[in-house]
This record gives sequence, structure tokens and C-alpha cells, in this order.
Amino acid sequence: MNIMEIGKNPNYIGSYDLYDLNVNETTVTIAGFREDNVVTNGQTEKCAVMTFKENYKPMIINPTNKKTLSRLFHTVMGEKMVGHKISIKIEKVKAFGKLFDALRIKETLPAQTEEKCEKCEECGKDIKPIAGMNSAQVAKYTKSKYGYAYCSECAVKAKAEAEKTKENEEEVIDESI
Ligand SMILES: [Zn+2]
Repeated sequence: MNIMEIGKNPNYIGSYDLYDLNVNETTVTIAGFREDNVVTNGQTEKCAVMTFKENYKPMIINPTNKKTLSRLFHTVMGEKMVGHKISIKIEKVKAFGKLFDALRIKETLPAQTEEKCEKCEECGKDIKPIAGMNSAQVAKYTKSKYGYAYCSECAVKAKAEAEKTKENEEEVIDESI
């Protein structure tokens, strides 16, 4: 069992999704808002959910993040926020005397300009800006790391693939001892 692959919510973005991308923050474009019935520990709770134009899972927005959004956009109307870019980041949050990783919306807005997109050499889709890097920088970074310019999705797959190969190599070494 790969412990990195368990305990993730398949429906909503969490700090683990940014860890998988090897980043602490990323820029996303707000696509819309809705209310979901979210089941936690067997209890159904109505949650505010924000969706993104980029290929990210929706984000549950807690009261802290709601307040940040209303401060950033000077409104509580979701319609007025749609189409705008925000940055989300991993933050250590203290709760019940312990530190947890939480996803937070940054208090400052990222640049709102549309940049020219590089294309992923694996799937052919646009390489979206991530972690404060623009499309060209992501392309350069993934090329230096994996040998190909990848979008974030393909980079995650390449990373998992590389780790698997490493594990297999280690197993071979173990067996030969
Ligand atoms: Zn790709």
C-alpha cells in the first residue's frame, strides 16, 4: 500500500494535492460557487464549494477563506468573483493543540493577465501556470526534471512513475542481497 495515495479526498482539493505537485501555492481562476452536501465522519454537512477553470478539484471554502474572498473582491457576491485569479497556499493551522496543513486563499491577488500557454509534450494540453511559475517556467522546470515539458497532471504521473521505478530498483537490490 502506497501511504502517499491513501487518505485523500477524491472530490475536493486539499493540501495533499499541492504536495503532490511539489508546490506550496498555486494560482487558480474562479469558475463558480455551489453548495455541496459533504459527508464527514458519517455526518452530512452543507458546504460552500468553489470551482476552478483549471484542472483542479473544487475547494471547500470555510469561513476563513470566505472572509478572505470578500476582502479581496470587496463583495460577498460570487458572480462578481468568477473569472478572477486567486492564489491558494498551504498553511500550518493550529487546532486542538496540534498543527495541521490547511489550504488558504492568499490575502493578495495574483496578476490577472492571460499568458501565452506552452503545450504539454505528453498530452498536448496547455501547461497552466502553477506555484508562482508561468507556463514557460513550468515547461522549463518539468523539462529539466523529467526530460519533457509536462502539464501539472502529467508531471504528477511522471513523478509517481519515477518513484515506482526507484522502488523497483530498491527491491531488486534487496533481493540480490
Ligand atoms: Zn500533460
